[in-house]
Amino acid sequence: MTRTLYTNARVFTADAATEWAEALVVDGDTLVYVGDESGAREAAGTDVAAIDLAGGLVLPGFTDAHTHLVMMGEALGRVALTDARTLDAIQSRLVAARAADLGAPRLLGRGWLFDSVPGGSPTAAMIDAVVADVPVYLDANDYHSCWLNRAALIEIGITRDTPDPIGGTIGRDDDGEPNGMLYETAAQQYVWGHLATVTTDDDRDRAVERTIDAYLATGVTGVVDMAFDELGLAAFQRAAERRGGALPIRVAAHWFVGNTGDDAQNLAQVERAAQLAREIGSPWLRVAGIKLVLDGVIDACTAAMRHPYADGSNADPIWPLDRLKPVVAAADAAGLQVAMHAIGDLASDLALDAIEHAQLENGERERRHRIEHLEYAAPGTADRMSRLGVTASMQPVHADPAIWDNWAAMLGDDRADRGFAWPEYVDAGARLAFSTDAPTAPHGALPNMYIAATRRSALDSSFEPNRPDFALPLAQAIVHATRDAAASCGEEHVRGSIRAGLAADFAVLDTDVFAAGEESLLTAAVVRTVVAGTTVYEA
Ligand SMILES: [Zn+2]
Repeated sequence: MTRTLYTNARVFTADAATEWAEALVVDGDTLVYVGDESGAREAAGTDVAAIDLAGGLVLPGFTDAHTHLVMMGEALGRVALTDARTLDAIQSRLVAARAADLGAPRLLGRGWLFDSVPGGSPTAAMIDAVVADVPVYLDANDYHSCWLNRAALIEIGITRDTPDPIGGTIGRDDDGEPNGMLYETAAQQYVWGHLATVTTDDDRDRAVERTIDAYLATGVTGVVDMAFDELGLAAFQRAAERRGGALPIRVAAHWFVGNTGDDAQNLAQVERAAQLAREIGSPWLRVAGIKLVLDGVIDACTAAMRHPYADGSNADPIWPLDRLKPVVAAADAAGLQVAMHAIGDLASDLALDAIEHAQLENGERERRHRIEHLEYAAPGTADRMSRLGVTASMQPVHADPAIWDNWAAMLGDDRADRGFAWPEYVDAGARLAFSTDAPTAPHGALPNMYIAATRRSALDSSFEPNRPDFALPLAQAIVHATRDAAASCGEEHVRGSIRAGLAADFAVLDTDVFAAGEESLLTAAVVRTVVAGTTVYEA
């Protein structure tokens, strides 16, 4: 008996031919029938396992088309501080976390907001007042700064004589002493660099398991990692080995390629990705392409813009075009997908210039390159992407009105009104894939759909929606997060919608969010997640 009959459901298929169905039949790992119940019973035959879905809503499994899997699991293991909205609340969480694990060599937290701290000015002394005996590292909500106590400053060797790194700042008091705050590359180099050296394989294994559990519980059946490296690869290979070779979620990865300033070294990184793409060919874990970060973020005025920010500043791209072109051309020739982080309009211009160059160089072939984020893209960019066949990979959750004000203020002009312009890509005919970029934003699939369909805040209902005319109809938003997100890594003929012949990857919700309205996306729960015909999560 290998067939399973699912009945008593409302099925949104994300398939243009038949948008809605009421029953499914799965044979092994594949959907063999999608349609009405009598047809399903006929297709199922008599030797069949029957599952009554109790009137639930079935959606194709979500694909989080841009995420950071190990970092997300690490973040889930840290003290959560986003909803601690006063210094008192932050301090009592730290006290409780310290008391809960007295053997821990250090205390890690994440997600605190500047406006939860008096004057928006955190200091090492504020942490020392409650936890001074071990180093404490607290990542801010946007992962662009880190707040440390005195023991942490000592552990990583930051003193008044430590210079600011390029692209970063060490916060200092009036006497020039480090005050406990590290910004941008200072946080990345000193804190993340140090924590990477004290993180063990066991730590990473636990992180991977937390990530897998969290995704399955929100109906995500596929993920695209956007900064895979040797450590992440090894951790996922161990996770597969623990299960006899298969994972309960489909992982496609983009190999991180950093600009070393040397073409030969850059190309060596591309060659490593190409080698892994050839060697690792499992449906559960594969290297799909490379990831390049062309610029920073608008909130910190580090995204590369055609025109300056409100304060007159601008940022140079991290990859100048003459270094970018050979890397993109080499990856394209090797059949790798190229994903480029481009938040500012100058950066997306560069990305498209490099893709155009690769097409001229390498001629006609199947290619599926993509631009990540596109938070502000100039008019005409979507048309150019459509012409070049480039996917727009965007994160509704980054357009949450609760984190909008600073973003808009940095631009300071009518550019802010064109932020996160999803309908432009749809209208231009470019492929639009949705994702969360966890852990820079919450990983939940349904709150992400809420923002996509309303432009309202999933964090705080008191905010007005921003550009509500940019909201997408819910059905369309879900298609971009399922079928098109699977297509972003070339798998739309394998999975991503509910159609006979495709993989049986789907999620069952306790609420019909189409009938109950968009607000219900904030309270609906996933009650069952099925991957390749196997129930991998059940509430
Ligand atoms: Zn990312």
